[in-house]
Amino acid sequence: MAQAQRRRNGNIGTGSECKEKELLLLLRERGRSEGQGHQQQRWLNRTASLNNNAKATMATVLAMAMAMLLLFYSSSTSTRITTPSTTGTADEALSISDVDADAVINLDHGDPTMFEPFWKNAGDKATVIIPGWHTMSYFSDTSNLCWFLEPDFANQVRRLHRIVGNAVTHAHHIIIGVGSTQLIHALLFALSATDTRHPVSVVSAAPFYSMYPGITDFLKSGLFRWAGDATSFKVNGSSSFIEIVCSPNNPDGTLRRAVLSTEAGKLVHDLAYYWPQYTPMRGPADKDIMLFTVSKATGHAGTRIGWALVRDADIASRMVKFIEMNSIGVSKDSQVRAARILQVISDGYELPDPDSTTSFFHFSRRLLADRWQRLRWAVEESGRFSLPQFSSEFCEFTKEHTETYPAFAWLRCDDESIEDCEGFFKSMKVLTRSGRHFGAGSEYIRISMLDRARNFDLFVERIASLGLG
Ligand code: PMP
Repeated sequence: MAQAQRRRNGNIGTGSECKEKELLLLLRERGRSEGQGHQQQRWLNRTASLNNNAKATMATVLAMAMAMLLLFYSSSTSTRITTPSTTGTADEALSISDVDADAVINLDHGDPTMFEPFWKNAGDKATVIIPGWHTMSYFSDTSNLCWFLEPDFANQVRRLHRIVGNAVTHAHHIIIGVGSTQLIHALLFALSATDTRHPVSVVSAAPFYSMYPGITDFLKSGLFRWAGDATSFKVNGSSSFIEIVCSPNNPDGTLRRAVLSTEAGKLVHDLAYYWPQYTPMRGPADKDIMLFTVSKATGHAGTRIGWALVRDADIASRMVKFIEMNSIGVSKDSQVRAARILQVISDGYELPDPDSTTSFFHFSRRLLADRWQRLRWAVEESGRFSLPQFSSEFCEFTKEHTETYPAFAWLRCDDESIEDCEGFFKSMKVLTRSGRHFGAGSEYIRISMLDRARNFDLFVERIASLGLG
């Protein structure tokens, strides 16, 4: 009976899966029947109206969810049903059962699996086949300062930055790394003086990305050391520093500028999230050192490819030296795949295929907008937490006013009875990362917004249910 009723009601935990699937279908439909230009606006209007109904839909889904939970608890029999996954393929239907109430939801890492539906839909266009005798050499282009950089990958990086308008590339060397994580290591080496007995201080304004301290101090290098929050760092005339500026910032989504004077120190701009799905594009960034990664740009974290845009040839050469010593280059197979992924996104905007989904950033942005809308509603319902607010700004890429939809929710536990926000969520079987790891207090947690729809749905339901008690 519960099963039948759930089918009628649209299933617990599947509200946004349906919505995300609807968005995917809209993309397909748009691809078939519409061209670019003002037609894109029609599609956006349709998805916007879909979004306006999100609150009402969510309320209905939650009421149903609560009713169904009551039904589950009053029944000792286990009910299994299947519901379509966001991937939209029947063969990968997810199994939703009453076990969901007990499922541990891991939103600790920023694993970008929410982008999977787009890439499934892209099909063969984004599929790479590498013959057995290809990519065997260590070398990619010996005439390039970065000799292990595949020329096609470099071309696709420059092309995508040009289309999106988020970074200048003409005066910069491209240095490829095993994710931007390896490039941060390479930069700390490249920016440190090897002829000094004092390690250079590495700082970032709190709340800072929780990996920066670990990356800096893991090998106990004598060249550099983590010195914490840039806002409380005292610049001493003789000693140098490296400030990492993450913008939009992980964990809180804010736009950042350097807080220290650049004369005494060196700046690294980590622009992992400066892409249109997360934030309005405010023109091309033009910094001496900029970091990007496919992990957050396209969702291909497992490909382990990042790139640095570096103006200074000496710094670029020292980075290359570090990567030679560390991994003798970067997987060519991964570069070939990453090049294809970037190409599919760029083709989607420059050479749209009328038969399929094309606009990656528009698609991803709609998913994130919908998730943020539902999370804000659930947080409000709970009455115990708060989230950062962002004003809407003009996006140079979409040519419209848009909001910021960060990859992470930086949630504050306002309820004073909750001392440890991470512990409180853990008691609800939701794994998050405490503000303590980011140089902030335990009243904060960071929550990934990039997980698969099913996990995100369950999470939102759990938060909202706190207000229903
Ligand atoms: N910088 C920031 C701000 C990040 O959030 C991440 C991933 N969480 C990275 C760098 C590292 O990304 P990757 O090594 O996957 O390229």
